[in-house]
Amino acid sequence: MSQASVSPSYRQMKARRVLALLLLFGSLTVIPMVAPSIPTSPAWAAASPANLPPEVVTYFTPEDVARGRAYTGGRYRLFAGGTALRLAILLLLVGTPASAALRTLAVRLAPARPAVAVAIYIGLLVALFELLTLPLGYYAGFVREHAFGLSTQTRAAWLLDRAKGALITLVLAVPLGSLLALLWRRYPGRWVLPAWGLSGLAMILLVALAPIVIDPLFNTIRPLADPDLRQRVIALAGRAGIPVDQVYEMDASRRTRKGNAYFTGLGHTKRIVLYDTLLTTGGPDEVELVVAHEIGHWTRSHIWKGIGLSILGIGIALWCGARVLDWAARRGGFHLAGPADVAGLPLVLLVLFVLSLLGLPLQNAISRRFEREADRTSLELTGNAAAFIRSEVQLARSNLADLTPPPLVVWLLYTHPPVPERIRMAEQSAGETRPRP
Ligand SMILES: [Zn+2]
Repeated sequence: MSQASVSPSYRQMKARRVLALLLLFGSLTVIPMVAPSIPTSPAWAAASPANLPPEVVTYFTPEDVARGRAYTGGRYRLFAGGTALRLAILLLLVGTPASAALRTLAVRLAPARPAVAVAIYIGLLVALFELLTLPLGYYAGFVREHAFGLSTQTRAAWLLDRAKGALITLVLAVPLGSLLALLWRRYPGRWVLPAWGLSGLAMILLVALAPIVIDPLFNTIRPLADPDLRQRVIALAGRAGIPVDQVYEMDASRRTRKGNAYFTGLGHTKRIVLYDTLLTTGGPDEVELVVAHEIGHWTRSHIWKGIGLSILGIGIALWCGARVLDWAARRGGFHLAGPADVAGLPLVLLVLFVLSLLGLPLQNAISRRFEREADRTSLELTGNAAAFIRSEVQLARSNLADLTPPPLVVWLLYTHPPVPERIRMAEQSAGETRPRP
């Protein structure tokens, strides 16, 4: 349709639609920032010791409960706001000529080179996303973390992190997106299978290379230095039957006061990484427990299982994305030149995003199951339920964990079992192994 044939009323209607979407987007940026400071509702605050889990009453103070709730309550709302914001950006791109305009601009910048134009379009899309999510990211990641005394970062350091993250996204998204667009053009209607293979391969490569290529861009990671702790870790790993020279410490304290540890990598890059914050706050018994938990992930191949499940999810999502793209190109009204038009990328992203949201409860249920398994391994390997509980209590305090999370939130968002559940499990295991008089 040419511009001349568009009637003024139709154009006004379009303008109103764009304005409405912009307003929606603007309010979505502001509301989540204001919402966390809204006083908690009576239902939320109604936690007298009578309805607190016994583990919470035994190991925590009312201040621990209140602080954890204040911090995490806002985080839940920020998750909802951030999700709505991303959804609004994608709807803005899909429902208005914005995506087509970006594609036209990219083609104008590289008229004779379609591959370069596609790369420019994807770069513009990434930049747009980064800019529009920056205010909320700054509030959640910098302002709020400082307000709760968790961040140790300067504003400049935070912005540098964010810039590095954006650059990495760009470096990954441009070649991957360009290849995807190439498949669209070359195999119309049959691109899902090769795209699936490509994404799966990219995912495996990313997991394998992240510990040696991406993580060092953000932190200094070196082999665990403390000789006593090293000795204990070697003994522990020996009992579990895994290689021992792969436990590292990381200078997390340059960013946060939170304690943590993680298991990452594949093959030769497989490793356990401990935050230095964990090493300074926890005693050797507690650190050993955390290492034993990560060993649990290692011996039970949780990374490979996670990759397998993700690849399955990506396959389903790509298939659905292709169906929707075909439908949109046939139906018209999405400003697409055809099913192979790269301007349709936000539509595919929208489908992937909605499906990933729908799949979140299942994904997190699987993750919580893995975490329970790792917890069980840590208790079996160390036989030290008391240290398990101490380390849980320390981590919950330093990380401002929600000690009474609403079940619906656990179902939707929790990658780990809530703290009281983990403590209960350790108490039960101590009851089972304690010698009977
Ligand atoms: Zn874990």
